[in-house]
Amino acid sequence: MPDDSPASPVHACLRCGACCRWEGDVCLTEADISVIAAFLRLEEEEFINTYCRLQRNRRGLSLIDHADGSCIMLGADNACRIQPVKPRQCRDFPLRWNFPGWESRCPASANWKGGADVC
Ligand code: SF4
Ligand code: SF4
Repeated sequence: MPDDSPASPVHACLRCGACCRWEGDVCLTEADISVIAAFLRLEEEEFINTYCRLQRNRRGLSLIDHADGSCIMLGADNACRIQPVKPRQCRDFPLRWNFPGWESRCPASANWKGGADVC
């Protein structure tokens, strides 16, 4: 989930793509679905049928995974295919959303200077 947005002033993402290969859901909000579908020039129903699955808790939708577990939107060039409109969860990592132990898996964490509520 590479993040170079202004909302991440203290997290210098190295764009390694590791967080796009982590296990688990890439959760989608209703707004995410609308914006991403439009970006891909798809009807929302087509986007959902092509790129989404139920979250593991069955309470919402997630992007599906490639066979190797990486996010379906991670391209062969190691870049996010929907970078300008990537999901809220991706944009929020790691400042507003993260999980225990993320620091050991993100090579940029050495530059981390704040908690999840600093911006
Ligand atoms: S949507 Fe993009 S940034 Fe988010 S996990 Fe998938 S490839 Fe990474
Ligand atoms: S694991 Fe960390 S450094 Fe690598 S792309 Fe994700 S946020 Fe950036």
